[in-house]
Amino acid sequence: MYGWNGRFLRVNLSNSNAQAEQYDLTMAKRFLGGRGFAVKILWDELDPRTDPLSPDNKLVFAAGPLTGWSLPSSGKLVVAAKSPLTGGYGDGNVGTHVAVQMRKAGYDAIIVEGKAEKPVIVLVQDKLVDFVDAGNLWGLDSFTAEKRLRELYGRASGILLIGPAGENMVSYATIVCQEGRSGGRPGMGAVMGSKNLKAIVVVGTRELPAAYPKEMQELGQDAYREVLMKPSYAFWKQQGTMMTVEWSQENSVLPTLNYSEGVFDKADAIGGFAMEKLKVGNRGCPMCNMTCGNIVKDSDRKQSELDYENVVMLGSNIGLGDLKQVAALNRIADELGMDTISLGNVLGFAMEASEKGLIDQHVPWGSFKNTKALVKDIAYRRGLLGNMLADGVKSASEKIGKGSEAWAMHVKGLEVSGYDCHTTPGMALAYGTSSIGAHHKDAWVISWEVKTGREHYNAEKVDKVLELQRIRAGVFESLTVCRFPWVEVGFELEWYPKFLRAATGIEVNWDMLNVVGDRIFNLTRAFWVRHYNKDWTSQMDVPPARWFDEPTKKGTLKGSRLDREQYSEMLQMYYRKRGWDDRGIPTKTTLRKLGLEDAEKQLGKRIKLAE
Ligand code: SF4
Repeated sequence: MYGWNGRFLRVNLSNSNAQAEQYDLTMAKRFLGGRGFAVKILWDELDPRTDPLSPDNKLVFAAGPLTGWSLPSSGKLVVAAKSPLTGGYGDGNVGTHVAVQMRKAGYDAIIVEGKAEKPVIVLVQDKLVDFVDAGNLWGLDSFTAEKRLRELYGRASGILLIGPAGENMVSYATIVCQEGRSGGRPGMGAVMGSKNLKAIVVVGTRELPAAYPKEMQELGQDAYREVLMKPSYAFWKQQGTMMTVEWSQENSVLPTLNYSEGVFDKADAIGGFAMEKLKVGNRGCPMCNMTCGNIVKDSDRKQSELDYENVVMLGSNIGLGDLKQVAALNRIADELGMDTISLGNVLGFAMEASEKGLIDQHVPWGSFKNTKALVKDIAYRRGLLGNMLADGVKSASEKIGKGSEAWAMHVKGLEVSGYDCHTTPGMALAYGTSSIGAHHKDAWVISWEVKTGREHYNAEKVDKVLELQRIRAGVFESLTVCRFPWVEVGFELEWYPKFLRAATGIEVNWDMLNVVGDRIFNLTRAFWVRHYNKDWTSQMDVPPARWFDEPTKKGTLKGSRLDREQYSEMLQMYYRKRGWDDRGIPTKTTLRKLGLEDAEKQLGKRIKLAE
């Protein structure tokens, strides 16, 4: 087998055992790597009754067949488990040296199961696996702990770890690396904490097995050059995703005051050009020549890495218009190891609840001091409010009640990312049907939608969401490569089959890859349905009521809202095109067509599947 190592490493923390396992080429071709491997492993190995924070849950770190070579933006790793936030399939990708080192150590994925008796570090050095006492690191913030690990294991080692939020099992704790890059929004850090696993350190020294090594090397050089020559490259390096703040404001989709509006009075103060004035450097993932992390000095005089999502969620969505203070909140969240999208969302929810007199604690919009204290309370689960918000916005609204469910901004329990959808039904559909809950990564359709007619609820829009989900959610997440070269600088899709051929020796084209993307997407949906403890209905794919029922009051599009009936029709159209029934469950025919007979069998035991 070329391209893939053909081996997983299975680590059991309960008995400190580690074993390499082989998998075959059929698995590789059918699921590629990354998300594909993760969902297949979790589907095969998790009982539907598994408590996400129990030793029975499994945490998968999976790379893809393009990881480890010099190819643009290919230093990504998928971290996946059953989510403590949603109860469904959860994952995230993170740019990390672990991706590269793990592949060079001879593994395509590491599966962590069980629970260590005491805090531990798993240390992988090629074939050797050690379980190192982490008692002296437990309780440390992610920056300090990472620095200590780097001193011990060297600059080249790959390190993934959790901060106090992961240790305290905050439902949206992330897994962190490289001083503030993090991934695994749906609580992958909490799963790591539940297993007493503070860090995983990987060092690999082997050559990767490419089918055509010379071609691989030349392709890589050409591809990096191609990225550099793209016209939008220079501005991307200047601002990265921060350029989207101004775009969102202009187009009335900037999340503002808990998604009640799409424009923010102080948007300019937190935008890309404001960021440029504070910028002191760039940081990014391994293997990337379009690094997009903007390093600024925050109001606490610490370095903070800014991008669009963390700025709007900790800025406009909570009414905070001072970028240095936004950066300080972001730095604290990174130190504690919490997802900034979900965090900004629960903070906005708390502020609205406070304004409406539904909670005792006073949390005014835009107050830096109160917010800073509350962020720490959440990470340490301190106080009634901190502890309640640590379980996410869905859980908080269920506890508070009194109609707050209507403005608890989530889908399937995962908080909505940084785009207001009062005026964008296509993006609402993308949130509604994403693989992990309301996340933008699977189908960022909003920019195309704004250009082509945001008012439509039509087949063309559904097709676009499907197309993006195949490419981004299925193929990119499984190869495992970053979407930004394609999305942001126009690096052509045709490169990827060439990379795959050089790595694996297998000829593929995008039609074939799209089938793999569909297989992975359908198995992910099957996982959700199988692990959901109630009857699955199309209501699971409907975005929050606020966007349907409360028109915006500001901006050029004031008075806008989503139309419930048209959204439902568009959702049913999406199901038909996917080969799902009117509940949003894959039919027998669809599962068989994709070779997912086991999903048909297992789902069939729980529910009646449509033909
Ligand atoms: S573009 Fe940004 S997110 Fe993508 S690989 Fe490069 S640094 Fe990472």
